[in-house]
Amino acid sequence: MKASRRDFLTTAATAAGAAATANLANAEDHQQSTGHDHHDHQVVPSDMALRVKSLESLLVEKGLVDRAALDALIDTYEHKVGPRNGAQVVARAWVDPGYKQRLLTDADKAIAELGYGGQQGEHMVVVENSSMVHNMVVCTLCSCYPWPVLGLPPVWYKSAPYRSRSVIDPRGVLREFGLQLSEDVEVRVWDSTAELRYLVLPERPFGTEGLTESALAALVTRDSMIGVAKVPPRREGGAA
Ligand code: FE
Repeated sequence: MKASRRDFLTTAATAAGAAATANLANAEDHQQSTGHDHHDHQVVPSDMALRVKSLESLLVEKGLVDRAALDALIDTYEHKVGPRNGAQVVARAWVDPGYKQRLLTDADKAIAELGYGGQQGEHMVVVENSSMVHNMVVCTLCSCYPWPVLGLPPVWYKSAPYRSRSVIDPRGVLREFGLQLSEDVEVRVWDSTAELRYLVLPERPFGTEGLTESALAALVTRDSMIGVAKVPPRREGGAA
């Protein structure tokens, strides 16, 4: 699922106590009209949407928030930063045991070796999946997420059901993502916060021994680094 501008704004509003979106109200209109033949002409937005909109108007009016700057920031995180960065980190760890060791012991430093870091990427911890341990990441409080290596969080990551149910019934949540783990695999759920953000180092799939680092990186998905999926095995005959 691709993060949208609205997601970013929601996150920004949470993180900075600023920013906002007019799309929130539109999205709610849309959701409420789904399944109906006619669009409601006026649906009152939620309290939160109204509060965010008021805040945005005020901040723009007072010159504290520049819409153009906000757009530039969104563009950066949508197009220049994203899960491909994290995939590079994972692929390097798969091919270079020394790097993997550094990544697991001092993630910030190891990730910075590849040139990634910055806002929302401080204080990273990388947790390694194996045949016996499966790690998954959630932010139960809001939507803390390692932006420099994963980009913007997907909508479901910020949803109340994911945030609450990942802790209560992680195996059930993973099943809904299509990941069925056998009972002997230990599931560890990590709660990201502003102080600590987690990245899952997924298992390297079988049959990828001959692949180059960049081909390996192309296999790594965002969801595998959040821990709600495994990295799919190499596709037959296809480029990775
Ligand atoms: Fe959070």
